[in-house]
Amino acid sequence: KEYFALICSDISEEKKAQREMKKAMEATNSAYRAKSEFLANMSHEIRTPLNGVVGMVDLTLSTDLTPIQKDNLKTAKACADSLLRIINDVLDFSKLEAGKMIVEKIRFNLKRICDNIIKSHIVKAKEKGIDLKCNIDKGVPLELIGDPNRLVQVLNNLISNALKFTEKGRVDVNITLVNRNNNFVKVQFAIIDTGIGISKDDMDKLFRSFTQVDGSHTRKYGGTGLGLVISKELLGLMGSSIDVNSEKNVGSTFSFVLEFGIGHGNFAQYSEENK
Ligand code: ADP
Repeated sequence: KEYFALICSDISEEKKAQREMKKAMEATNSAYRAKSEFLANMSHEIRTPLNGVVGMVDLTLSTDLTPIQKDNLKTAKACADSLLRIINDVLDFSKLEAGKMIVEKIRFNLKRICDNIIKSHIVKAKEKGIDLKCNIDKGVPLELIGDPNRLVQVLNNLISNALKFTEKGRVDVNITLVNRNNNFVKVQFAIIDTGIGISKDDMDKLFRSFTQVDGSHTRKYGGTGLGLVISKELLGLMGSSIDVNSEKNVGSTFSFVLEFGIGHGNFAQYSEENK
């Protein structure tokens, strides 16, 4: 004899719960998208006139002014620059969240990029008496194919932090060859400072958005708590990750490895004006 058992259960409640869950998730996603879009639009709307303010202040600074007028304008420019940095961080963060950050492949010269980066940070370094250097190993090819804009963004973030959290000593940007073949090269970038360092307990706070390790010193130094999150995400888009080695009161090293093309394909040439 064969026996069959038929088990019936009422799944209408389960189906209803699934439908509600789907609805709730759709609502959350659309609220999330709306928030990202709002942040991106607001940042863009603020950035455009602010760029105008910075431009006009720059222009006026190059005219004949009394020392007091010059000092006042310099302070205004420093404030506008710092606001611009915050806006740019929020804009980048919302672009990354919305999956709208694009990674390009263009031809660029690594040495030129490093020279420009050092130039843009040297005033700050000198003000603090910090020796800032970029050292490119002899074996690293200088004509590369990759995304110079994203690379500059990550380097700028890490160098700004290194300078911000260092009171005396040096900041080195060491660029070394990992390996290469005919078409590709892997290059390591290490930003090494002799600054305040990060304790083991604080390491896991580094990559949380809008989070700064320590309220008291970050209030002193300022910042959005977005730089490292953005850098990590940008490196992720370029197939890389970020490594941190740090010792409290000794210094920190932030490093990453990127792969670049060195072939002769038909790639657009990077120009500083394209930034
Ligand atoms: P922000 O610099 O705007 O605070 P980041 O995301 O770039 O935001 O950095 C987060 C926190 O990580 C900083 O507030 C700081 O506490 C710590 N940090 C980052 N870089 C360094 C560094 N080079 N030395 C010491 N602490 C650092």
